[in-house]
Amino acid sequence: MHSWPSVVVPETREHLPDLTLNGLTGPITITNQIDHFRMYVCGITPYDATHLGHAATYLTFDLINRYLTSQGISVQFVENITDIDDPLFERAARDNQSWQELGNSQVALFQSDMTALRIMPPVAYESVTDSMSEIILAIEKLAQNGSIYQLESDWYFKISDFLNELPLAYADALKIFGERGGDPEKIGKENPLDPVIWIGNKSGEPGWDSKLGFGRPGWHIECVVIALANLVGDTYLTSSSANKYQIDLQGGGSDLIFPHHFMTAAMTKSLTGYEFAQTYLHAGMVGLDGEKMSKSKGNLVLVSNLLKSGYDAMVIRFALLNEHFATDRMWRDTTIQEAQNRVDLIRSALSRNEVAPTSDTISKIAKALSNNLDTPTALKALDNWVKETESGATGGSVGELSRFLDTMLGLAL
Ligand code: ZN
Repeated sequence: MHSWPSVVVPETREHLPDLTLNGLTGPITITNQIDHFRMYVCGITPYDATHLGHAATYLTFDLINRYLTSQGISVQFVENITDIDDPLFERAARDNQSWQELGNSQVALFQSDMTALRIMPPVAYESVTDSMSEIILAIEKLAQNGSIYQLESDWYFKISDFLNELPLAYADALKIFGERGGDPEKIGKENPLDPVIWIGNKSGEPGWDSKLGFGRPGWHIECVVIALANLVGDTYLTSSSANKYQIDLQGGGSDLIFPHHFMTAAMTKSLTGYEFAQTYLHAGMVGLDGEKMSKSKGNLVLVSNLLKSGYDAMVIRFALLNEHFATDRMWRDTTIQEAQNRVDLIRSALSRNEVAPTSDTISKIAKALSNNLDTPTALKALDNWVKETESGATGGSVGELSRFLDTMLGLAL
């Protein structure tokens, strides 16, 4: 699958501090001594266009991509499209549309939203359907290993060896597993938390041939294989890795911590003998007017609708950057207007012939970003520069600051 148009991020001449990220298991610092960084970000299930929660998530990993790329590190960024999944089939059936048509239209909309928001595209943007032969090979290998078992026409992954690594209490895990696509109540499973890995064919659903019968894969193994095939290479099933970790970072929204990222880590360990990611990073959830934003509540704010209403994509980007990526936040009617007002002031300052000194502001923004992507502090430094400029300070370079904002924050103002 083609991704979307690339965004040029030049290597910066600034001396950037090393980037520290507060991952799920603690902070990691990425030094500029490495030459590549392997990042896998879980992509959309294409049945409802990009809402602000998606935008906030992909923006988070875009900041990492920009920061490391500008340091001269080659970022190998892979993202998937979960185009085989229950919600997609359910939505397509509801709307009397084919799942392929629905998927293609929503992927196209997602790509145009990502382009508008100036999110750097992945080097590989892979759908489950295009990766099916590799996914089936991996599941067959897990069957040979004895890591999965059959229950009626379905196959389940044995999670029992990994339960001591659960990121939450077992009782909470059971509840959340049921809410996020799992089937803890199903009779006959070895452990209620075992996730389905191969779903025997149900009428009306797409299916593929495999040694486990005709059917389709479960969600978690899809990401394992798309990540490994594209970031480690086709030999990941047959040769040993030189690294303890197969990839450097797996990312997504905080609703993926459990079960999805827990399951992908467990399946990778069973499949390859190695750990999946060195760190896991998660973006907080975006709510609307005090409520959780969700498809079931019907209160999603779509990026495409904001763009259609005439909001500038850079103002949407600014509004999302104004909150720290890791915190849950609320979107309100006033959020976008406040961002618009601040962007107007910054643009007005950037259009002056004489501006306040810029190098100190650039250093402050770089320092804030290096500290776990602290964008609110970075934007405050920018507001202060605007105030200094308005009060008549001089000696700065507009070109230098605009280039830096564009490179590091993706704000083309
Ligand atoms: Zn995933």
